[in-house]
Amino acid sequence: MSAAPQNTPSESLTTPVQFLKGVGPKRADLLSRLHLKTARDVLFFFPRDYQDMSELRAIDRLEENQPLSVCGVVEEIDLRNTGPGKSVLGVLIRQGTHFLRAVWFNQTYIRDKLSRGARVLLSGTARQTGLRWEMTHPRVELLGQDEEPPPGRILPVYALTDGISQSLMRRIVRGVVESWSARVEEVFPESFLARHNLWPIHAALPQIHGPADRDSLRAAQRRFVYQELLVMQLALALRRSRLLRQRPAPPLRVDAKIDSRIRRLFPFELTEDQQQAISEIAQDMAREHPMNRLLQGDVGSGKTVVAEYAMLLAVAQGHQAVLMAPTEVLARQHVRTLSRDLHESRVRIGLLTGSLPNSLRRATLDAIAAGEFDLVVGTHAVLHEEVEFARLGLVVIDEQHKFGVRQRATLRGGLDPHYLVMTATPIPRTVSMSLFGDLDVSTLRQAPPGRQRVYTYLGDQNRRERWWEFFAKKLREGRQGFVITPLVEESALLPLASVEQAFEDLTNGVLDAFRLDLVHGQLTAEEKDAAMQDFRSGATQVLVATSVVEVGVDVPNATLMTIEGGERFGLAQLHQLRGRISRGSYPGYLCVFARVGTEEAQQRLDAFAKTTDGFELAELDFQLRGPGDLFGARQHGMPPLRVADLQRDTEWLQEARTDAQALVAHDPDLADPQFARLRRMVLARYSKALDLGDVG
Ligand code: ADP
Ligand code: MG
Repeated sequence: MSAAPQNTPSESLTTPVQFLKGVGPKRADLLSRLHLKTARDVLFFFPRDYQDMSELRAIDRLEENQPLSVCGVVEEIDLRNTGPGKSVLGVLIRQGTHFLRAVWFNQTYIRDKLSRGARVLLSGTARQTGLRWEMTHPRVELLGQDEEPPPGRILPVYALTDGISQSLMRRIVRGVVESWSARVEEVFPESFLARHNLWPIHAALPQIHGPADRDSLRAAQRRFVYQELLVMQLALALRRSRLLRQRPAPPLRVDAKIDSRIRRLFPFELTEDQQQAISEIAQDMAREHPMNRLLQGDVGSGKTVVAEYAMLLAVAQGHQAVLMAPTEVLARQHVRTLSRDLHESRVRIGLLTGSLPNSLRRATLDAIAAGEFDLVVGTHAVLHEEVEFARLGLVVIDEQHKFGVRQRATLRGGLDPHYLVMTATPIPRTVSMSLFGDLDVSTLRQAPPGRQRVYTYLGDQNRRERWWEFFAKKLREGRQGFVITPLVEESALLPLASVEQAFEDLTNGVLDAFRLDLVHGQLTAEEKDAAMQDFRSGATQVLVATSVVEVGVDVPNATLMTIEGGERFGLAQLHQLRGRISRGSYPGYLCVFARVGTEEAQQRLDAFAKTTDGFELAELDFQLRGPGDLFGARQHGMPPLRVADLQRDTEWLQEARTDAQALVAHDPDLADPQFARLRRMVLARYSKALDLGDVG
């Protein structure tokens, strides 16, 4: 072994990379660009992919459509420009008397890596074209003149930076793994490893960097994936347990009298799902610790009335409730709904938004502090720290996904309010387990009765005229409609109809017989509100809008929608938009026009047209979008997962969740000394995102 310093294990792992075998100051500089500063960093710099050399083939033994590797000599290089910014690079590879052609489109830089006579290793899927084998966009790696391709191994593929080649990186990491991995401390007690079928870290580290075979790779991955998921689930479980124990909340109990007084206010019978959600919420609110509940339901499933019940329950028990909405339009709409239901009661409602004139804002703040408002509705301004409540009992956050981050009121004094967060984007199960894993969940699955279906069409240019004729016919029958466009300004790069252009065209064209209005993000809150008001009253028949109408807007007579530039909207957003026209007693009709450029966009639109079930769409969206930024996880302040992939590792996620909950149920602060290291890891990673502070 190399000259290993004789320090304590954890100290030595912080040895700067420059002192590692084969590195030195110059390479250390390059490595720092990859955030590799210490031996430990290198040990945990996991491959971003693997190259399966167990499938190294001779060219005459290739098979189609299977990932394979081929080793040979560059015989001929041919780079052709085929248009502005377009090129085809063809490289002929010889292996004895056999040839294979590798092809790259628009990747001229690969030309610079290669020269005639160079020995290369290509990995990809081969195809037979005529008599010759061809690989499109293979991974290519240079081999030294006498370097043999590594035999029968699964090779790690690391992220690189200029000046560090793949083979150099492999050498560096291999050296570090050999000399240093024995020093890494195990976070799990031995019995835990055995019970959960996990490889010890000392076995897993070498195998994640240089697996002996597929099975060992999977076992090594399991070790790290499970650990990462367990750490996340422990953080969520600790947060939950802490919220439950540490801050008392006012118990707000419902009795038969309060219950019937509240229900009398609603103009309709509650659905079973609504009843169920209300009873779950009422049980939570009756306790002496804060409720932390997520209410999820599809667009139009009737979440507002559930929130209203909870708020009125708080008021009936002498507390204030606040409702936070993502936009002013929505905040004002909530005030209207509440005022409609409460006009005969003594409940006083205040509106607090960022756009209030200063004097009114001051007066509102004073009234809130004096307890003169029972219900306060507003945008994120309502949870600003300068807002002091006299006796806040409940915080409701509407369309929680719009806010991200776990908003909590900054409250002085002893009691915490109860929390109810709502989301109209049904959340895939794996996501709710990870992003919202610290919350209890109530779900509204069924729509309120009498809900009409929405017919969704994917329009093409040929059918434009017929669609608009239909649109106009329905307007003449008394219905109203939306036209949605993705951008406010005409952009030179994207020749999409801007909302203003669309408005002009429609007003002077197919819809010239109707009353149109325009709403977009650059209007002031008052202007937007006035436009919404005119639409609601029927003064406006067609609202041409950007996606500002996406959330919440509730106009039952609006049953028509045209979406332009549909490829520019995500699935969840499209579904939200559709929710705007399923609210009344007439069926809805929606047509999406799109310029589909990718397969993903096509799948997205097809799925959208095929089903109106938000939960189904959410799962699909999750699959289509891939593991990338998980539903804005970063926006939610959660650190990204490094090795786990929630789509691939669903089972391990469930397992880690169950295990974490069991551990914390037993040991609410994870104080057992055998888990001290694990606990430190949890805090280091999540204490900021989840506000765990100094648990225990
Ligand atoms: P969302 O869940 O999208 O916030 P809303 O709460 O805005 O949905 O409700 C959508 C529409 O359904 C509203 O017009 C609301 O008044 C109506 N609604 C809600 N619950 C019921 C019910 N139980 N019966 C009939 N209509 C209902
Ligand atoms: Mg809503």
